[in-house]
Amino acid sequence: MQRFEKKFVEEFISSFEAKFPNVKCPVCGHSDFELLPGYHVHALQTNTDFAMMPPKGAKTVTLACKTCGYLLNFMVSAYVKDEQ
Ligand SMILES: [Zn+2]
Repeated sequence: MQRFEKKFVEEFISSFEAKFPNVKCPVCGHSDFELLPGYHVHALQTNTDFAMMPPKGAKTVTLACKTCGYLLNFMVSAYVKDEQ
C-alpha cells in the first residue's frame, strides 16, 4: 500500500492536535493513536443496490487506538487544505 506523503501526515497531525490537543479513546481512555497509511472512503449512495462502479464518497483518514484498536474516522477536508 502506498503511504501518505510526509507533508500530508504532518499537516493532518498538526491541524488535528490544534483542534483536539487531549484526545482520548472513547472505549479504553488511552491517548496513543496511529494514523493508518491510507484513506478510508465511505460510500455515499442514494439506495442500497450493489454498486458496480466505485461510488463517490467521503474521504477520511483513520486513527487507530494503539491499546484497544478502536478506529476513529475524520474527514480529510476538515484538516488538510491541499490534499494529495
Ligand atoms: Zn482504545
